[in-house]
Amino acid sequence: MAKLKNISKLSSWFGNLQGPLIIAGPCSAESEEQMLQTAKEIAALGKVKVFRSGIWKPRTRPGNFEGVGEKGFKWLSQVKKETGLLTAIEVANPEHAELAIKNDVDILWIGARTTSNPFSIQELADFLKGYDKPVMVKNPINPDVQLWVGALERFHKAGINKLAAVHRGFFPFEATTLRNIPKWETAIELKSMCHDLPIICDPSHIAGNTEYIAEISQKALDLNMDGLLIETHYNPMVALSDMNQQVTPKQLGRILDNLVYRSTLSEDANFASILETLRNRIDSMDQQMLELLAQRMNVVEEIGKYKSENQVTILQLRRWEKIMSSRIKLGKKLGLSEDFVKKLLELVHKESIQRQTEVMNKFSSKKD
Ligand code: PEP
Ligand code: MN
Repeated sequence: MAKLKNISKLSSWFGNLQGPLIIAGPCSAESEEQMLQTAKEIAALGKVKVFRSGIWKPRTRPGNFEGVGEKGFKWLSQVKKETGLLTAIEVANPEHAELAIKNDVDILWIGARTTSNPFSIQELADFLKGYDKPVMVKNPINPDVQLWVGALERFHKAGINKLAAVHRGFFPFEATTLRNIPKWETAIELKSMCHDLPIICDPSHIAGNTEYIAEISQKALDLNMDGLLIETHYNPMVALSDMNQQVTPKQLGRILDNLVYRSTLSEDANFASILETLRNRIDSMDQQMLELLAQRMNVVEEIGKYKSENQVTILQLRRWEKIMSSRIKLGKKLGLSEDFVKKLLELVHKESIQRQTEVMNKFSSKKD
């Protein structure tokens, strides 16, 4: 369990917040017109609390648009004055943070590339000590929950209690339709390590494409995440960065209107007792499942002993292929996906080989 105690609730960042925190705005600040027009259209939706925009952009290769820099602060204060939206920018070093504080930016966020570097995080945390600035920490590029929680801990140790994590997905090593794989389990693991920590989902950087943003946002809410950060541009076609994933304020409005906000508790009096009954069934099935797996492993060990006595190898490729194909077929009949059955069997098979190896080693050492 990470030592992240006394984390402030998101609502205390602003005084009042009902429902999930919605953050929207362009990937990058580009011009006064782009910032103000986008912010006004976003504010008119009445559902967005914070306006985001990067003024320094971390780019993979040099030579791409690297942000407008300090002149973006003037546009951000205009946005704040004219729309009442709070402002958030990415900071990657103490100089950025100092300028953001001087220019009254409300929330700082740490980009995925920066989270991956504990030296940079420590420098930022040391600088921010004593300031009461909310900090949002994006997940590192690779799915390393320790690195993510470590960055949060460094800010927390510096006395920052207004902390949130931002889930923006992880670098995909295989071709995917999404820009970054969500690996929701990593965000869930973080939540189970730090119960009080708010987690905000960034569907834009997960998706990489406007098409999937609604679906990913709904999934985040269904997982009880505390907010959404959605890149929004008044004219994405001319955006200088992340053009494919930015929605228009109008599209944003439609996405937000169509989201279903489910509560963690139901008002129905029967709900708790029905849920309890179903959970009891799950508990009992899990017990049976584990007992069966333990019995299976006992048989596996017996086979190991038998193989060892008869000088036969552990891995019998043909048998393994037969197991796999017949179980996938059976799984399909039972409504289980091929991928699930395959992963499950691979796990069971790995453990079986391990058990048989142990049995064989024991036997051969007895013979020595
Ligand atoms: C961004 O929010 O525009 C950004 C650069 O995000 P990330 O750090 O998640 O890549
Ligand atoms: Mn972006």
